[in-house]
Amino acid sequence: MSLFKGPMRTHLNGHKDLTEHGEVVSLNPSKVSIPLFAGADTNPEILVNVGDEVKVGTKIAQFSSRFVIPVFSSVSGKVEAIEDQLHQSLKKVKHVVIASDGKFTKESNPTIDYEKASKEELVDFMMNAGIIGCGGAGFPSYVKYKFAKDVEKLIINAVECEPYITSDYKTVELHFDEMLLGIKAMQKMCEPKEVLIAIKKSHPELIQFVNEKLNGEKDIRCVSVPDVYPMGWERTLVYELTKKRYDKLPAEVGCVVNNATTAYMFGKAMTTGEPIVSRMLTVSGDGVKEPKNVEVPVGTSFHEVVEACGGYTGEDMVVCFGGPMMGGTVTTDAVSVERQNNALTVLKKQAIDEVACLRCGSCSDHCPSGLQPVRINQAAKLKDNERLGKLRVDKCIECGMCTYVCPSKIAVTENVRRAKRAYMMANAKK
Ligand code: SF4
Ligand code: SF4
Repeated sequence: MSLFKGPMRTHLNGHKDLTEHGEVVSLNPSKVSIPLFAGADTNPEILVNVGDEVKVGTKIAQFSSRFVIPVFSSVSGKVEAIEDQLHQSLKKVKHVVIASDGKFTKESNPTIDYEKASKEELVDFMMNAGIIGCGGAGFPSYVKYKFAKDVEKLIINAVECEPYITSDYKTVELHFDEMLLGIKAMQKMCEPKEVLIAIKKSHPELIQFVNEKLNGEKDIRCVSVPDVYPMGWERTLVYELTKKRYDKLPAEVGCVVNNATTAYMFGKAMTTGEPIVSRMLTVSGDGVKEPKNVEVPVGTSFHEVVEACGGYTGEDMVVCFGGPMMGGTVTTDAVSVERQNNALTVLKKQAIDEVACLRCGSCSDHCPSGLQPVRINQAAKLKDNERLGKLRVDKCIECGMCTYVCPSKIAVTENVRRAKRAYMMANAKK
């Protein structure tokens, strides 16, 4: 069944101006704690021991049970500990703690010439370089290309629809040539009829910049998309550019979608051999003194990142990895940056006076997945799994829109998210 796509008419205040035009600052932490986390795969092979010397780009672990996902050191120095620490998922997860020597000596990892390499060689290279979705998802990118066939469009997602986040825009602006190299290799790997770089209409300067850089490129063009939320969501973006809907994967309608920063990381790995060891992170929100984009080694603590941005503006803060709509909230800043993180959003905590549901229907009207949050909530209270299934609770993308529009200040998204978890767990036990 394909999903009904909701009305998509909400423009959010982006607050992008807080960081969009500022300088990017690089961080040089004295220590990193690199999480060994790959969702359901909890059994990585750890390739280093305490006391080992490592360089930037040394492979320190690898997940292989479901997908191949190598993990690399982000600094040069000595492995100090391999221990359980709190992770962004709020679970205890094994981390490799490395004391940096401050020299950032690089491992000599292989490079590749995409023009000479075969498609299979490029897919293997992408897998071994640990290229994952850098827009927040963290899905290993090689999987999309390994099985790609009959591809109409390769879509490079630089929409960045969440408020506050500008790290993709900055990456496009500062690293265009490496991004384009990554895109061309991706193009070779999936052989699409055309390649589209999608940017929101509200960023004409960036669109002009990309168009000028693409001048003379065949089959690669920049397209502008409406400034509504959640336009950067894969399903919405694919619909916007193809007018086709799919059930599970964009491949069903001939599309491969990758984030702009992912393309840059791939291009960089091809030319320098360096896997994803550091990344651009937008640190913004009214809870941080000096919002800015920072270049951060993977494994740097959130605390250190916020300190590099002048610290918190007060005592009581909400810290999200990602943006305020879809991002996850952490209870402490003693957790580490991962390679798929694109932002750290810090907001002042606000007292919320929730009142009873007005039955206004606004949450249903604005849901991009066409769901009915009030009915989902009722079915969840009755523990009616069959009804939750019929209401397609599994299709909630946790976009935060239903809470955002609710005049009663009800945590609608949280209720739907809980119902979705309960439904998925009940189904998994069957
Ligand atoms: S979070 Fe709310 S608005 Fe977003 S998909 Fe889920 S139910 Fe719909
Ligand atoms: S938006 Fe809020 S008040 Fe309106 S129907 Fe949904 S939950 Fe009720």
